[in-house]
Amino acid sequence: MQALRSELAQQHSALGLIGAENPAELARCSRDFFEYSPVLVPLLEGRLAQLVARPTTTAEVMAVAGACARHGVPLTCRGAGTGNYGQCVPLSGGVVLDLSALNRLRQLDPISGVIEVEAGALMGDLERDLAPAGRALRLMPSTVRSATIGGFIAGGSGGIGSLRWGFLRDPGNLLGLEVVTVEPEPRLLRLDAAGSEALNHAYGSNGILTALRLPSCDAIDWVQIVVGFGDWEQALAAAQLLLRSALELNSLCVLEDEAAAAMPWPAGCSDPVGEHRLLLLAAPAALETLPGLMQSLGGQLLWQEPQSTSKGIPLRELGWNHTTLHWRSQQKRETWTYLQLLLPQPEGPCLAALRHRWGEALVWHLEGVRNQGAGRLAALPLVHWQGREQLEQLIADCRELGAFLFNPHVLSVEDGGLGVVDADQVAAKAAYDPAGLLNPGKLRGWLERG
Ligand SMILES: Cc1cc2nc3c(=O)[nH]c(=O)nc-3n(C[C@H](O)[C@H](O)[C@H](O)COP(=O)(O)OP(=O)(O)OC[C@H]3O[C@@H](n4cnc5c(N)ncnc54)[C@H](O)[C@@H]3O)c2cc1C
Repeated sequence: MQALRSELAQQHSALGLIGAENPAELARCSRDFFEYSPVLVPLLEGRLAQLVARPTTTAEVMAVAGACARHGVPLTCRGAGTGNYGQCVPLSGGVVLDLSALNRLRQLDPISGVIEVEAGALMGDLERDLAPAGRALRLMPSTVRSATIGGFIAGGSGGIGSLRWGFLRDPGNLLGLEVVTVEPEPRLLRLDAAGSEALNHAYGSNGILTALRLPSCDAIDWVQIVVGFGDWEQALAAAQLLLRSALELNSLCVLEDEAAAAMPWPAGCSDPVGEHRLLLLAAPAALETLPGLMQSLGGQLLWQEPQSTSKGIPLRELGWNHTTLHWRSQQKRETWTYLQLLLPQPEGPCLAALRHRWGEALVWHLEGVRNQGAGRLAALPLVHWQGREQLEQLIADCRELGAFLFNPHVLSVEDGGLGVVDADQVAAKAAYDPAGLLNPGKLRGWLERG
């Protein structure tokens, strides 16, 4: 490691190398939000990089990649470190490559709206840069203010906008990548949409993303809407109806009364008084229909405010894993975790059975998504942690009832997703990281190859 550090320090003084002289920064750059999973904590706590490098150019990225390949040192990419499953934790130590200073919006095509952006750009900054041209990102996590676009593509899955645009891995959401390989003489490749697929959601285990080509969409000043329901079944029915409606919605979130009570509501939106809440981001035209429709379904419109003028926390920071964040901040953190499910259709019987079997151990949080072209409900229930056995039983129950699990309590790309090895991801690793130095331990297919 010392030889690698000396080599990089001599040739690239701007890399801002951090090593053992700054243990606090090494520790900060070696972790993410894995503490949401009591299963992952013992596996990841204390895993540390020996060196952090912060390149500002692709040439510097290539220098670090080449040095790691020549010295046989593991290399783990890092965006903002907001992942939930320890995706950017360096299991085998080595170098953490912090890409946050590689952050320029290189291009916005005025006709197609296609953007080319460097991987370390913060999504919140991108949003601001696109707004004057009337454009916006299609998909963003609820961490949009703090996460990088490269980290979202490599480690995220969807979020705000998934109701319209599906998930990141759906064809059309990623148009191309610029990638640095990890070899003694690294290559800078430009991959088209098909070539990029294997690197999309691979936890940076098969290539260093330096820039991305993405479609943008028309910017809409979404109206934040909160609807209250006294009855859970009515709230669920309203969500189901909205998924099938022609109303233009960018997100739909349902919070059970207990979860709603724990959220920090935007300025002007009253705190709940025992009701379940439906949170919507709706296009202005939807306002002509929504209040009457919600009333006819037993709901009461409690608050509305355009996102652009609203004060305090935006509604989009109460959904997705921000629900988990706010909930845990109100509880004894180590006693609550969560799950991520795609519910079977119709959702009612599965939800009713889980509510019956698990009672107060689960607090319900639903999100509307588009899956293979159809409106579906995902669930991110808050789960009272009663030990690993109970969690395994809960997971088994969810599967038995037809829910599809995106398991947030596992380390590998495969186990957190479809459960099966993607041969293309493994082939891309063989081609772009032949010595297996990138984020070791995260691609199960690489570890199991014959
Ligand atoms: C409160 C909270 C809410 C969240 N909400 C959502 C949500 O709505 N939707 C969602 O999908 N996720 C969500 N997440 C997870 C996380 O925020 C997203 O995945 C986010 O996009 C990660 O971005 P990041 O820059 O922090 O990436 P990091 O955490 O730094 O990295 C994520 C993964 O990408 C890899 N990586 C990073 N940059 C590169 C690069 N340039 N090249 C190659 N690999 C790279 C890392 O090695 C790691 O494997 C949430 C997390 C929290 C804590």
